[in-house]
Amino acid sequence: MKSIAVIGSGITGLTSAFLLKQKKCPVEIYEASSRVGGVIQSVRKDGYLAEFGPNTLLNTSKKIEHLIQMANLAGHVIFAEDVDQTRFLVRGGKVINMPSTALGFLTSPLFSWVAKFNLFMEPFRPRWKNKYEETVAHFVRRRFGQEFLTYAIDALVAGIFAGNPERLSVMHGFPKLYQGEQKYGSLIRTQFFGAHDRKKRGETSKQEARVFSFDEGLQVLTDSMAANLDNMLHLNNTVKKITRTPTGWKVGYLDGDILMEREHSAVLLSTSAYTAQNIALHTDEKLSLAPLGQISYAPVTSVVLGYKRSAVGHSLKGFGMLIPGIERFNILGTLFSTSLFKNRAPEGHVALSSYVGGMRQPELAGLPDGKLFELVHNDLVQLLDIKEKPTFQIAHYHSRAIPQYDVGYGFYKDHVANIQERCPGLFIGGNYTRGPALSDNLLSGFDFADRIEKYVKEAGLIDG
Ligand SMILES: Cc1cc2nc3c(=O)[nH]c(=O)nc-3n(C[C@H](O)[C@H](O)[C@H](O)COP(=O)(O)OP(=O)(O)OC[C@H]3O[C@@H](n4cnc5c(N)ncnc54)[C@H](O)[C@@H]3O)c2cc1C
Repeated sequence: MKSIAVIGSGITGLTSAFLLKQKKCPVEIYEASSRVGGVIQSVRKDGYLAEFGPNTLLNTSKKIEHLIQMANLAGHVIFAEDVDQTRFLVRGGKVINMPSTALGFLTSPLFSWVAKFNLFMEPFRPRWKNKYEETVAHFVRRRFGQEFLTYAIDALVAGIFAGNPERLSVMHGFPKLYQGEQKYGSLIRTQFFGAHDRKKRGETSKQEARVFSFDEGLQVLTDSMAANLDNMLHLNNTVKKITRTPTGWKVGYLDGDILMEREHSAVLLSTSAYTAQNIALHTDEKLSLAPLGQISYAPVTSVVLGYKRSAVGHSLKGFGMLIPGIERFNILGTLFSTSLFKNRAPEGHVALSSYVGGMRQPELAGLPDGKLFELVHNDLVQLLDIKEKPTFQIAHYHSRAIPQYDVGYGFYKDHVANIQERCPGLFIGGNYTRGPALSDNLLSGFDFADRIEKYVKEAGLIDG
């Protein structure tokens, strides 16, 4: 049997390839860069462990646990300390505990009585019946009021998408909220009834799922899957074209300066949208990946600063803090990394991982490291009562970090669906198709592996 081509070795491509191998389907992975993992990159330096990309994974499904077992990583998993349920929001320059219960919300100084009243009125508000697509901002204003948007959702959207709620589509960016309103008429009702539906599917909501990582960071997972796929992995091989042939697919890739070609039974394209746009698609029907280049991406820089524990006034007992745009800080949010996971800083020190830029202040992400260290430190001094200079600093710039599921995003989803429908054996995935969360990308790997196996079997391309 000809092998299956997986293009891109981010979490989506690696998970799919790893699972296909478990199913005894031969795979070849093409990776443009010199390392695997895509945006996942964990760096150990001077006793600190810095994540350049994502910091945490959510255990939303038994399948995730199963993957960890298959990768022999159960002994390397570290669940977040109990503090992960405590999250902070900044309001009026103060770091305030985010309420997690109805009573906590009622007594919280974070929101005015008007906002509290609006929240309790939510179940009585009508569902959206208009035809035009809503932004997240419009949706939240309509159901909960402006204050909730300004102080809670703006910060949350910055934390997940580094995005702008006035542009993000609720239907595409937060499909569960959109569907919840359509199905149950209210988000508060969705909380109750949705839990029952999830239980039936064996899933856990993102709010309830346990947060975890690995002893040496998230890269442990991608490195381990890559090690298992070792001789099937082709680094520094940028795919330039995909051609349909009478018997399957041919992948054209650059090996140094030379364009090479290899035959495959099926192809999974799991790159980012902005690189997929450069891959020529040769089929009988004039289809093109070029429109994917119009998807906007938020630039983000991760800045990890280390401090002596004694120099930080704040207790840091929590997951971290999110900062609404109205507060006018440079940071979008900060994770209290050493409170979440052990072994992220030398004894007596703490590590704080902040994100800068996003759609809110894209120009900040591209500043020189020295300037960023200064801006982030100054914000942390004000917010967390820090009295000394950092003892450690490192930054990593992502020019295009996270795809923005803005209003109109359905065009790209339909485009991808149309190509897949008209090109049997070509599968398209990655974080611009099913949401940016790692857990969703990982679960999409299970889905792709099942669908690809089914395809090659039904097409008679594999025994069994
Ligand atoms: C700064 C940051 C923080 C984040 N934090 C979190 C978090 O805490 N929790 C969470 O759940 N999610 C988080 N995310 C989101 C999550 O990390 C990503 O959505 C996910 O890792 C994307 O995986 P992917 O496989 O879709 O793509 P990528 O990781 O982008 O991988 C795509 C791969 O394809 C390769 N490639 C591209 N073009 C070609 C080509 N032509 N030929 C061959 N190879 C090619 C690339 O080199 C790359 O290796 C974060 C993202 C960023 C950037």
